[in-house]
Amino acid sequence: MTYIHDTIVKLQKTSPAQAEFYQAVEEILDSLQPILETNEKYKKHAIIERMVEPERQIMFRVPWVDDQGNVQVNKGYRIEFNSALGPYKGGLRFHPSVNASIIKFLGFEQIFKNALTGLPIGGGKGGANFDPKGKSDGEIMRFCQSFINELYRHIGPTSDVPAGDIGVGAREIGYMFGQYKRLTGNYDGVFTGKSLLWGGSLVRKEATGYGCVYFAQYMLEDQNQSLAGKTCLVSGAGNVAIYTIEKLYELGARPVTCSDSSGTLYHETGINLATLKELKEVRKVRLEEYLQHHPDARYIPVSDYPADGHAVWRFPAELAFPCATQNELTEQDAQALIANGIIGVSEGANMPSTQDAVEVFLNAKICYGPGKAANAGGVATSQLEMAQNASMQTWSFAEVDEKLKVIMKNIYRNARDTAAEFGEPHNLVLGANIAGFRKVADAMIEQGVV
Ligand code: GLU
Repeated sequence: MTYIHDTIVKLQKTSPAQAEFYQAVEEILDSLQPILETNEKYKKHAIIERMVEPERQIMFRVPWVDDQGNVQVNKGYRIEFNSALGPYKGGLRFHPSVNASIIKFLGFEQIFKNALTGLPIGGGKGGANFDPKGKSDGEIMRFCQSFINELYRHIGPTSDVPAGDIGVGAREIGYMFGQYKRLTGNYDGVFTGKSLLWGGSLVRKEATGYGCVYFAQYMLEDQNQSLAGKTCLVSGAGNVAIYTIEKLYELGARPVTCSDSSGTLYHETGINLATLKELKEVRKVRLEEYLQHHPDARYIPVSDYPADGHAVWRFPAELAFPCATQNELTEQDAQALIANGIIGVSEGANMPSTQDAVEVFLNAKICYGPGKAANAGGVATSQLEMAQNASMQTWSFAEVDEKLKVIMKNIYRNARDTAAEFGEPHNLVLGANIAGFRKVADAMIEQGVV
């Protein structure tokens, strides 16, 4: 245990004020204890010390002009964390909360998540503290172009391939790709999550949500259970939440909640997917408007949330899918879920449960699929997009979906079997972390001190 403490203390000194990053590192190191204790080689090769240090971090100014003619300035980031298994791969997040700590924790998680997919992709992440909410199309375009005016020199189809994350969808990827192409003259597969009109892959948009539901399905199957007829709580109202809800319906479950930054929606008969898509994908308005179409639903504004957590986790259900953002599910939320009879949690977001909440799930021995395993379907399908671009092919929806299912099944089995190998069969946190770590660490050793 002392190396965990020592590593965190050292990080606090050398990388100050990065709470989310320490949290992600601590969670990984906690699980790695059994493998580090029995394998001298990782210590000898200073694997932990090297892994927690990004290979490269880029921070840059992003100036742009708003619709009133005023100059605005944001902070841009790209962390190229680890390339042992392939080109840096990971999304870009545009959200006012973005800072060096958030990007670093996301980049760190991405290393292990990408390793778990079994595909040749390293870990990276980036973004900006830019708030796309309320911005015009022109403002979004000018921001994206300015962002790429710096980032273009650091990325490439075999070196670093960004994609979307919170606040970055097909529109933003389009503007960034256009500027990259103009600056470099190359029509490269340098981004994933592209439009289907010019190099995108079918199923990429749906992949994180679908994958997260497939993961839940595989966990349940091992318990002789299924999704059919299960009541589900989903948080978020973005891409991940919407396609989680879509796949839950397809597999016979009943998703009754979703949420955005202003509040939570509860619709006992089931969230109406068509209305949700219209509000969030087409009109991009607040969830509260849902009530105008479905007066029998309930809306709980953020101001009415419990002081120690989030309204969305306080409804009775058998399954929970946190698909919003980091630390959105507290220890008290986890206790409320258990008290209400939850049997499984599959995380569509990155690190949505606090460390204490994870402890509650593990102690209760419910099916708990941690984000880096359960939400890996997005990045895995990104790699399928890269493969199609590189081979100048386009695969059908059914082909990509089938590959996604196989990848999610392999991730689940790998996490489950690794957990069993280390004597904690139900602990997919331990299983996922060790399986991801082992692959990256062994590749790093084979590639020498770089
Ligand atoms: N942002 C997604 C994630 O957290 C996808 C990254 C990608 O497709 O590169 O994994």
